[in-house]
Amino acid sequence: MRKREKLAIIREHYPTAVTVIDSVNELIDFVEEVLDLEPSQIMMADSICSDDVNSIQYPVRAQEFLGPFKMGGLDGYPFTGLTGMSAFASHVPDEGAVYIYYGPHIGISKSGTVGEIQRYGQSKHTDCCGATKGALRKLLSNDIIPGTVNDMDYQMNTIEQILFEQRERITEARIPLLEATEVIYESIDQRIEELVSRTDYHSKYVILQGGILINSDIDMGSFTALKRFDVINLHTKERKSWLNIR
Ligand SMILES: [Zn+2]
Repeated sequence: MRKREKLAIIREHYPTAVTVIDSVNELIDFVEEVLDLEPSQIMMADSICSDDVNSIQYPVRAQEFLGPFKMGGLDGYPFTGLTGMSAFASHVPDEGAVYIYYGPHIGISKSGTVGEIQRYGQSKHTDCCGATKGALRKLLSNDIIPGTVNDMDYQMNTIEQILFEQRERITEARIPLLEATEVIYESIDQRIEELVSRTDYHSKYVILQGGILINSDIDMGSFTALKRFDVINLHTKERKSWLNIR
């Protein structure tokens, strides 16, 4: 299948999606040409789902950055919190930058089915994101008890509570899983902002890229639909969005 055919399937639901490979290549160009930094001056952190597919499909050129520091747990929520954020913030080269990629993920199969992918060595499709689909099933069957977060399944219960807070919006949507994924994105985005505002950085820039990470079948690869691409200059405190500029 050609790249444009793959993109056409993903863009049915995410019109701005590009391949993760293209997105990383563009970011490296941006770092070199606009920020005048080397990739080795960038400390990367990601807040994406712990799902093994995200390790299998991790873009090779991301290795040109330092890191990654792993902030995310189930469906990419930044469960490492303030301690995680301040840990890697203190590992950044002095004149370098912190780069954080964050967001929930969702599967879209080659046949266009939302919430499923075909994984290595398997003939059947499986859930993606399994955690969010599980939480959505509980929401739709009225099995989420507000305020209940248990030690044994802390991350999953947190995802359930995030969905419960927006239950009407999700259950009334045409494709509830797409809406649930938007809800989780907003929750992650808000939490990242809070964490960034409460962290001391000793570098020159903080680069924030937030969006929906879209996984697909083994021979399709992964895609990203960015919703935020902000650069904060820590010396001048200036913040600029580059989302639609390049
Ligand atoms: Zn997941």
